Amino acid sequence: MSVRVRVAPSPTGDPHVGTAYMSLFNLAFARQQGGQFVLRVEDTDRARFQADSEQQVYDTLSWLGLDWDEGPDKGGPYAPYRQSERLDTYKPHVDRLLAEGHAYLCWCTSARLTEMREDQQKRKLPTGYDRLCVGKTAEQRAELPGYQETPVVRMLVPEDPPLHFVDLIRGEVAAPHPDDQVILKADGFPTYHLAVVVDDHLMGITHVVRGEEWISSTPKHLLLFDWLGWERPAFAHMPLLRNVDKSKISKRKNPAARLTWFAEQGYLPEALLNFLGLLGYSVPGGEEVFDFARMSETFDWSRVNTVGPVFDLDKLAWLNGHYVRELSAADFVERSLPFLQRSGLVSPMPTEAELALVNAMVPAVQTRVALLSELPELVRFLFVPEADFEVEEAAAAKALTEANGPVLTAAADALEGVVEWTAPAVQAAVDGALLEGGLGLKRNKAYLPLRAAVCGRAIAPPLDESIALLGRERSLRRLRAAAAACGSDVR
Ligand code: GLU
Repeated sequence: MSVRVRVAPSPTGDPHVGTAYMSLFNLAFARQQGGQFVLRVEDTDRARFQADSEQQVYDTLSWLGLDWDEGPDKGGPYAPYRQSERLDTYKPHVDRLLAEGHAYLCWCTSARLTEMREDQQKRKLPTGYDRLCVGKTAEQRAELPGYQETPVVRMLVPEDPPLHFVDLIRGEVAAPHPDDQVILKADGFPTYHLAVVVDDHLMGITHVVRGEEWISSTPKHLLLFDWLGWERPAFAHMPLLRNVDKSKISKRKNPAARLTWFAEQGYLPEALLNFLGLLGYSVPGGEEVFDFARMSETFDWSRVNTVGPVFDLDKLAWLNGHYVRELSAADFVERSLPFLQRSGLVSPMPTEAELALVNAMVPAVQTRVALLSELPELVRFLFVPEADFEVEEAAAAKALTEANGPVLTAAADALEGVVEWTAPAVQAAVDGALLEGGLGLKRNKAYLPLRAAVCGRAIAPPLDESIALLGRERSLRRLRAAAAACGSDVR
């Protein structure tokens, strides 16, 4: 039997990073097994539904290169893949469960349920539905308080539900005793629990690979599979991603929980994919840098971690820097342009001069950024119109002191004599004037005011390359202006 797995995001806002993490593991397994990976949209929670969320799921997964074989946008043999379009599919199964006594109607209002739960908590009793509606007709129930006309359908969970199951990652798992779960809501929509079982069955899903937060729901799902006479799929519950403080990653608390955040911040998809893989998986050699192919080729459930992986952004930045350095120059330019355009340094339709400068700066900057979003600040000095160029206050305060005026002037004077404006020629002129044989300064001390004058900040690409890229005229003008600001002569 061919392996079929799925990821089943709920379109309730910006996609969660967990959706990519689950997709990666599902897909790595599917590809290794020559199976299929299905994308199913679980949009039965109408209160939390957000219309643009589904498209964001497609965009972010595509950006990561996590391709699905079947889905709402692609179709497939089990279409439709959007649960809101499958409502007719669920109803007969609910009717069957009702007819066979595995489910019952419940007319309790939410106010009554809240009251019941508060009372149970107050009396330190286990919380759960008290079965007031079990065995009653609508008329009998209507006599009692907290009645609403449209009922929901609940599972009648037996005394001894299947609480133990074998998990591919964890081995034997024991889950808590479930409550009488609602499976059909008053609005006629199934809940997640019913829809997930019906769809996993009808779509031929062989392995359910999902987050560990669903372990406590698995007994309910097993009951439904059993009651409906369907074969149970295999289960693998992935450890939840955690913040550095070990709390669960949530979109409210951590921007990195939002999948769209990574592209905005200048992370490369290959770095994020490697990072997500590394969080949950160890490749046989134990190396930290690996790609999807390597993960998929070696995939083995026994290599999946069981302890909550920590979402360490420093580690991700390190990996990202690695992948940035690996890019070809042309690729680096292509991926950097949107960041330079967004920050206004390069036009939406780049001019030839802008493109030439972007291409020329690659060797000076490619090894110096971990995230592409760091780039605009680093190279701003090259692109700003001269009138807008300013030396950052902190850099100026430290470097443009009165004593440094002569240093700047000496550098400018030496640079006047450079014939061929290249980085080595610039370096030779500056060093000759300022280091041994010239003013006798140490390199760091000599370069500090120059960097502030030319680049406007303390952290910048190498000085010789910066000056070479900026060009003779603008470099000299900035050095002279800075010298003047230090109280030295203006020429
Ligand atoms: N719709 C569920 C979610 O948003 C899917 C859980 C599952 O994979 O069973 O996480």
